[in-house]
Amino acid sequence: MSDDAAVAEQIVSEAAGDGAGADADGPKFTLELNQDQQDIRDWVHGFAEGVVRPAAEEWDEREETPWPVIQEAAKIGLYGFEALGQFWADETGLTLPIANEELFWGDAGIGMAIMGTSLAVAAIFGQGTPEQMGEWIPQCFGTAEDPKVAAFCSSEPDAGSDVAAIRTTAKYDEANDEWVLNGQKAWATNGGIADVHVVIATVDRELKSRGHAAFVIPPGTKGCEQGAKVKKHGLRASHTADVHLDDCRVPGSCLLGGKEKLDERLARVREGKRSKSQAAMQTFEASRPTVGAQALGIARAAYEYSLEYAKERQQFGKAIIENQSIAFALADMKMEIDAARLLVWRAAWMGRSGQKFENAEGSMSKLKAGEVAVWSTERAIQILGGNGYTREFPVERMHRDAKIYTIFEGTSEIQRLVISRAISGVHVK
Ligand SMILES: Cc1cc2nc3c(=O)[nH]c(=O)nc-3n(C[C@H](O)[C@H](O)[C@H](O)COP(=O)(O)OP(=O)(O)OC[C@H]3O[C@@H](n4cnc5c(N)ncnc54)[C@H](O)[C@@H]3O)c2cc1C
Repeated sequence: MSDDAAVAEQIVSEAAGDGAGADADGPKFTLELNQDQQDIRDWVHGFAEGVVRPAAEEWDEREETPWPVIQEAAKIGLYGFEALGQFWADETGLTLPIANEELFWGDAGIGMAIMGTSLAVAAIFGQGTPEQMGEWIPQCFGTAEDPKVAAFCSSEPDAGSDVAAIRTTAKYDEANDEWVLNGQKAWATNGGIADVHVVIATVDRELKSRGHAAFVIPPGTKGCEQGAKVKKHGLRASHTADVHLDDCRVPGSCLLGGKEKLDERLARVREGKRSKSQAAMQTFEASRPTVGAQALGIARAAYEYSLEYAKERQQFGKAIIENQSIAFALADMKMEIDAARLLVWRAAWMGRSGQKFENAEGSMSKLKAGEVAVWSTERAIQILGGNGYTREFPVERMHRDAKIYTIFEGTSEIQRLVISRAISGVHVK
């Protein structure tokens, strides 16, 4: 047998599972979803198709939180800490992005009304003590009969990308063991209508973002009020508003992680030692692949809609998809969406298995998926022609919804900054 033939035989035998490439635990790498993942995907897809999609146009026009849809989601167990816990329990990390992709395939505005709470939950989960998690996470969601939402408030009028510029202060009142918060938060998803607000404030401005801490503002706390509600380009079923904190007093126990840990961290920073904890950044890093998955859902919805349209729509006596320019656009959309999904799944898997994002893989996933969503939805409008530009067809809404994914949770420019710094070790500006 020639050398080439021997190598070929070995490859075939390993591919068949009887060689050294397979071990007793089966193959180490697979992209095949397991039964649980498939079941959850199909369950969320069914809700997205049956409940979310039919309601999408109405709530986009109303620009209001779709409470009846949130309630439906709560009733079937899709909205609630148990659902999030079930998604998180998947050790591969894939269930969370899969569920998000399916929900946002239904509609992104309603999707955000349902998933907006999870940013506050991620902050509590990432930075809270076990007692704080047990106390506050269920309150973020309320009950199936009486669902609530939660808000994560980091951005301010003068502190968007520049998180270190946060001016909201938190001062400790030792006599009463209370924290007193003052400041203005901007663009908070669910801001003011939330039961639980998680607020990032500075306890020492000189330390910039290392002087930040996260606080839970319990429901009904005096001095925490909604400011102006934002009228938006897209995601209009999701409420966005300023939040004013005016001598807002919360118990000492509302500092996530506790005072002892904060004092230790601040002491380390003041001594010039490294501190890995930056309150807002930690929350964003963990949630980026999930946000990328939401963008993917929008992109896929626009792709699927425009593919069907291109097969139906006749011009010059034939379906428009018979023109390469249309067919190639759809081929590129499919390829870009699949490529973005692989980056999202990789980052989700890395995050869940505790691997360090050495090359900012979380940022890569969100950057790619966000840009693919904007590009694909714009292509979808082009494929639908004049119809695509009207509110009679959903791709117009999808395009408006997609745009936020290059802006929030770190703009595309900031993601590129994070990636370029990670790969180079240079403090690129
Ligand atoms: C619908 C919606 C929902 C939101 N929800 C929340 C929420 O729930 N909680 C929350 O805290 N925030 C929320 N935000 C705020 C969002 O995270 C910020 O809008 C975002 O971080 C960008 O900040 P900015 O708008 O101040 O833009 P800016 O920071 O002013 O940026 C403006 C432009 O300058 C670019 N830029 C800035 N700095 C640099 C740099 N160093 N290098 C290169 N380019 C740069 C940016 O990329 C961007 O293109 C939300 C915003 C919207 C619109």
